[in-house]
Amino acid sequence: MDLFEHQARQLFEEHGILVPRAEVVDTAEEARVAAARLGGRVVVKAQVKTGGRGKAGGVKLAADPAAAHITARQILGMDIKGHTVRSVMVAQPVDIEAEFYVSYVLDRAAGCFLAIASAEGGMEIEEVAAERPEAVARLAIDPVEGVTPTRAAEIAAAAGLPADAADTLVKLWRVLIREDALLVEVNPLVRTTQGEILALDGKITLDDNARFRQERWGAERETYDEELEATAAAKGLNYVKLDGDVGIIGNGAGLVMSTLDVVAGCGARPANFLDIGGGASAQIMADGLSVILSDPSVTAVFVNVFGGITACDAVADGIVQALESVRLTKPLVVRLDGNNAVRGRAILDARAHPLVQQATTMDGAARRAAELAH
Ligand code: GDP
Ligand code: MN
Repeated sequence: MDLFEHQARQLFEEHGILVPRAEVVDTAEEARVAAARLGGRVVVKAQVKTGGRGKAGGVKLAADPAAAHITARQILGMDIKGHTVRSVMVAQPVDIEAEFYVSYVLDRAAGCFLAIASAEGGMEIEEVAAERPEAVARLAIDPVEGVTPTRAAEIAAAAGLPADAADTLVKLWRVLIREDALLVEVNPLVRTTQGEILALDGKITLDDNARFRQERWGAERETYDEELEATAAAKGLNYVKLDGDVGIIGNGAGLVMSTLDVVAGCGARPANFLDIGGGASAQIMADGLSVILSDPSVTAVFVNVFGGITACDAVADGIVQALESVRLTKPLVVRLDGNNAVRGRAILDARAHPLVQQATTMDGAARRAAELAH
């Protein structure tokens, strides 16, 4: 489970890491009151579980409580990469001297955690990493030793961070271990003009396998899923939200994963994926399609089914059924193959919906879906 920035901020604070004073509110009026309490001039920050809020207009400076009210009204309800802003964090602004990037992330291939750090943090970190990988230090962390003060000093030196950031690096590691996180990321970690090292933004992904010993997030975990994920889970569907624009439905984890790859290979980005599983019925298909179509970031849908236990005619029936209950406003590319494919295709041909197209191969269908998405 990903935490919101304000929850990460809370954990940082509990572990002794400096963070700006802040309050979380969900109305513009409360933002005004919070701003007044925090000294007037504040930063208003969208609370959504996705990055790039700054570039999307979800992080704004407000000069006084009245401006905080206006800014909060603009940001609340905003859509950032398919996530609706339901609350904002009102924070005391910080005078930044330098922005750094720091994260600890599980490197599954290496079987250990990795410290990633750069002296060039901030909103352009992805570009820095892509264009000048040498500006980003990556150091393996011994899982038994963890980040000792010595190791922290090595990370800081390798990344070109000030030596006094090492203490924060040790504390961040403690957050990762004590809170059972798989990712702890601070971007930017800043040095203020007063010379303090402060975490200005935070992303934490908790390890769901450790939920039994992290009581604190119990209720949170039940509602954490984006509403769509919760709706899908209630219908017994396996739905995962991603950041792109092609909605993907497939049967079986392997096929769904390959579908993501093939769509990415066609230059498009998956918006989500939904695995209807083996033996999917028409009802499951109809439920799945309605979930995928209610994701506002979806601009085209790719249904990729290889019928094994699942019969393609049942899938086609499900699509036809879904077309009755949901108004299709986005193009749908369907590739049916395997068990009863010919019957399934005939059912869709007979329905002849103007937004539904069929393709016979997975590659062809992915290319078509990618074109339609753009
Ligand atoms: P993100 O875009 O979702 O990563 O949101 P961040 O919380 O990282 O904010 C984006 C950028 O806004 C940061 O990199 C900072 O440059 C800037 N920013 C955020 N808070 C403050 C602040 O208190 N003072 C100043 N000067 N800049 C801030
Ligand atoms: Mn950030």
